[in-house]
Amino acid sequence: MNKVIFCRSTWMDKYEGIEPLTTGGRHPQTAGWANEMFNFKKEVDGCYYGGVWVMPRGHIDLKKIADKREIKSDINGEYIDEVLVVFVSSSPLHGQVIIGYYKNAKVYAKPIDNANPTRFVESKNLFASYNLVCKIEDGLLLSVDDRTHKIPKGRGSIGQKHIWYPNFYDNNDGAAVRDSALEYIERVERVTDDYNDLMQAERVFSEGAGRGIVSIQTKERNANAIKEAKRIHGYKCCVCGFDFFNMYGDAGNQKIVIHHLIQIADGERVTDPTTDLVPVCDNCHAIIHKKRPMYTIEEVRKIINFRWENGLCIRK
Ligand SMILES: [Zn+2]
Ligand SMILES: [Zn+2]
Repeated sequence: MNKVIFCRSTWMDKYEGIEPLTTGGRHPQTAGWANEMFNFKKEVDGCYYGGVWVMPRGHIDLKKIADKREIKSDINGEYIDEVLVVFVSSSPLHGQVIIGYYKNAKVYAKPIDNANPTRFVESKNLFASYNLVCKIEDGLLLSVDDRTHKIPKGRGSIGQKHIWYPNFYDNNDGAAVRDSALEYIERVERVTDDYNDLMQAERVFSEGAGRGIVSIQTKERNANAIKEAKRIHGYKCCVCGFDFFNMYGDAGNQKIVIHHLIQIADGERVTDPTTDLVPVCDNCHAIIHKKRPMYTIEEVRKIINFRWENGLCIRK
């Protein structure tokens, strides 16, 4: 059985600290703070530090997550690792929904306050504590538009509680809520992996890479556009004519970089695979992005042609 907990959060857009009041939010904007307000703030050590406040003293009951033999301990006290933490919140439009999750998280029994200056809450003169930790690449915050997977409020679910241990309460309703949430998260993971794979080449060069929250719809659209571009334009470099299959045989089969003619930032642009995307080899791609604004396809072709025609480029 997967180790999983559900945690209630206040409704925020980014969870990187205090943000302007949204239609759904009261707390922490009015209260001034909440433990979960930094849940998706990227720390320099490559982790997210999340908080869930459990009544009355903030302690999470680890024995309700997994067998007590799985409880480990470090400088911050007892914890269980490799837990899936599902964050839910009340959407202004859809009721209670999943807003994001941590995979492979460390869940500590007691809240930790290590006086990290990036978690300082000025209005309260305190450091927000945390009890959930995961690597940034294992955390995902859904864009506001994507927060539509409903989590019922009634019996056999998180209800009005701040934390819910779905594996502990052996209850059929609970299992259904849990399993449908897990299925949903699996789908989000699949789309995200697909998108990241296909976007890899361009993200390396993209100034805004990894910043902002990309909606599932955008991820799907971009992943499909790239597949479509390969189908339309083929696998030969449109700058120098290099053909991976010709050079490397099976090892190079269907290998090509899809380059966006317009510099992408957060992938929020609508992409037309016929006009916006072209196939290039890795070398030409590196040259295209060598300067900002980047070289056009025509400019790099000219460089190559000039060198060929003038005997400057000698191939043995
Ligand atoms: Zn090339
Ligand atoms: Zn490119």
